[in-house]
Amino acid sequence: MSGKEELGQSSPELFVLRDEEGPILYAPLGHLIARGNESAVEAALAYARDPSVYDAMEPEAQAVIRALGERGFFERHAYPRHERGFRPTQVTLFPTNNCNLRCSYCYAFGGEGGGNGEPITKMDLRCAQRAIDLVAQNAIERRDEGDGTHNFLVSIHGNGEPFCAFDLIREIVFYGQDIAEELGIPVVFNAASNGVLSEEQLDFVLANFNNVNISFDGLPEFQDANRPVAGGRGSFAAVDHTMRRLCEAGLNFGIRTTVTAGMVDAMPRIVEFVAAHYPTIEQLHFEPVWECGRCLTSSNTMPDSAVFVQRYLEALEVAQKKHMRLVFSGARQDMVVDTFCKVSSGSFTVTPTGDVTACYEVSYASDPRSERFFFGRFDAAQDRFVFDQNKLDALSELNVHNMRFCDDCFCRWHCAGDCAAKVLDGIDVSEHHGSVRCEISRALTLNQIQRKLSWKPKEEGSLTDAR
Ligand code: SF4
Ligand code: SF4
Ligand code: SF4
Repeated sequence: MSGKEELGQSSPELFVLRDEEGPILYAPLGHLIARGNESAVEAALAYARDPSVYDAMEPEAQAVIRALGERGFFERHAYPRHERGFRPTQVTLFPTNNCNLRCSYCYAFGGEGGGNGEPITKMDLRCAQRAIDLVAQNAIERRDEGDGTHNFLVSIHGNGEPFCAFDLIREIVFYGQDIAEELGIPVVFNAASNGVLSEEQLDFVLANFNNVNISFDGLPEFQDANRPVAGGRGSFAAVDHTMRRLCEAGLNFGIRTTVTAGMVDAMPRIVEFVAAHYPTIEQLHFEPVWECGRCLTSSNTMPDSAVFVQRYLEALEVAQKKHMRLVFSGARQDMVVDTFCKVSSGSFTVTPTGDVTACYEVSYASDPRSERFFFGRFDAAQDRFVFDQNKLDALSELNVHNMRFCDDCFCRWHCAGDCAAKVLDGIDVSEHHGSVRCEISRALTLNQIQRKLSWKPKEEGSLTDAR
């Protein structure tokens, strides 16, 4: 699909992609795309390598160079660099590893102690309070320094269902609101939930949370089969009730659907169902299941990448008619970044035991990956968090600049090497060698590029371009 022509920072960075219509010239750092014929693209690459060749070019090629130059294709751009220095204004709290569901593919063995016999536990309120103090104080300082910060964020997530610790969540929210008032800076509350909530919990969510994401497998039969409650019953009725209440309240929310091989063909149908039943939905996030955790002990398998792409594109057609945003995490052509997630800048995520992890999926000290991702803890005796700067420095190196495998990939500043927990399991960042997800990321990013181009008929030597 993509013949690569990348010219490094000393020259403009250009890639050549190919599809059934011919070559596409792509400058990711400048957000520039142009469709041309082979000779136009060849001229552009030759000029980008060595501008002195211009005088010897045919007039038609010179016209192409001038047209591309006017659009900025030959400008050099600095590579993106993630923020260094750990001064978070957002914390993600995992109140508990308990869970009311037993999803067949759960990466965290929710409700079963991570699969390693870890106890079911709940976060100490003081730990949550000190985490909130820390991000609120950073937000005040950064706001006063004028870096654009204007609030602090408290996200509730879990290696279980956070609302299984509802009493604690209430305390966390009330404390966050008090601190915001005391310091004079707004707080934003985000929640990710499996959606099996009581009326009281729903009332609380609607009254206090700004953003809500519900994990839902798209159709009643998949939800009941893959995401049963702890006793084995299906959970669709409960999650459907939650999402209807969010809709009645006019709340925009997101749905995350984990796609297994057995569900992949139904992706377009899932979009139809979700659009018909939950009209206030903001986005639907499809993610192929990753074979880890409880997935390894169930019959769930990852869908074939080519089939996932095909069904995703069909689902996208449906979603666009319904004005619904569809998302896959590795395809994000609008973003120019050097890291896939905040793992490299020390995402501040606190587990129920008070450990600080940079990665949502690595939340137990017994997980061998914790050696890499755990970089601090709540010290109850000192009543404060302590961080390991060496660990933070090492995490900072998990970026696409250090992933030679990605050098040739036109997605490298968008996908940025993908999820470190998945692709760097047990290996050094220099040994990154991609995964089956690369095929999906590249195909769907190419599709995003194609959609941005205007589809005018081409003439010899001409270019059609888009941002
Ligand atoms: S709801 Fe979340 S934590 Fe609980 S079993 Fe399902 S995937 Fe795991
Ligand atoms: S490394 Fe992967 S699993 Fe961990 S937080 Fe980032 S995206 Fe999530
Ligand atoms: S992980 Fe794969 S798709 Fe992502 S930037 Fe690297 S090579 Fe490209």
